Amino acid sequence: MAPLFDSHAHISDRRFDGCRDEVVFRIREKLAGFMEIGADMRSSFEAAACARKYDECWAAVGVHPADVDQLSDEALSELRRLAAMPKVRAIGEIGLDYHYDDGLPEELQQLWFRRQLDLALELGMPVCVHSRDADEDTMRILKESGCFSKERARRFAALPDGGPDARVLMHCFSGSAELAAQYVKLGASISLAGPVTFKNAKKAVKVAEQTPLCRLLIETDCPYMAPEPHRGETNEPSYVEFVARKIAEIKGISFEEAAQATFENAVRFYGIDHPALRGRCDGRV
Ligand SMILES: [Zn+2]
Repeated sequence: MAPLFDSHAHISDRRFDGCRDEVVFRIREKLAGFMEIGADMRSSFEAAACARKYDECWAAVGVHPADVDQLSDEALSELRRLAAMPKVRAIGEIGLDYHYDDGLPEELQQLWFRRQLDLALELGMPVCVHSRDADEDTMRILKESGCFSKERARRFAALPDGGPDARVLMHCFSGSAELAAQYVKLGASISLAGPVTFKNAKKAVKVAEQTPLCRLLIETDCPYMAPEPHRGETNEPSYVEFVARKIAEIKGISFEEAAQATFENAVRFYGIDHPALRGRCDGRV
């Protein structure tokens, strides 16, 4: 079976209390691995612990824009400590979310987005970005922070399409195909989740169509946004298969090719020395 990799999951979420072992069982049956992503201080700590506990798990640590009021100089030091733990591969998810009227003030979100980006740049780590209804500010801050600088790209080998690798992942991308193309040009990669499988998913389908395969990652963002045919249910990493199937359909390639390519993109992005890849690197585009 082609390897599948969920590049963004939250199995530490309380919704999985009581069924986490079954979820991990299905991960082991179906996936080559997954990234457990921190969204606040507690889940960042749990993501690092999850990576230690499960062979097929790697982790990212960071605080989501909805929870940046937890951050302080001390909390940032704690994130730095967690980032140095084994199998912690990225800073995230971090970013901006202007969707809710009662969300945290934009200035506060921007301040901590910048400071967490500074941490990622200092540590030379990949960044997993959450951006919702904040296209312009997200792009501006990523640029201003130096994420797309030549200096940053020099840290990493060029991507298979010859473009620079900024190690910036736009997770659960909800923007336009034009915006995705701008990010790709700057050296970012794009991750698609359950919404690309939804019947009214015109925008995400266009993004999948136009984004080069070597820049596409797939994810569940579980427990949220389960793909079809599980829409409305609690999402889990094994459902990433349905995102891969949809990418295959859109790109006109086989499921195996879509799974293999997105797996290779994910392990390259997160710098994972995965047993399934050892000894081979075909530079597929
Ligand atoms: Zn998430």
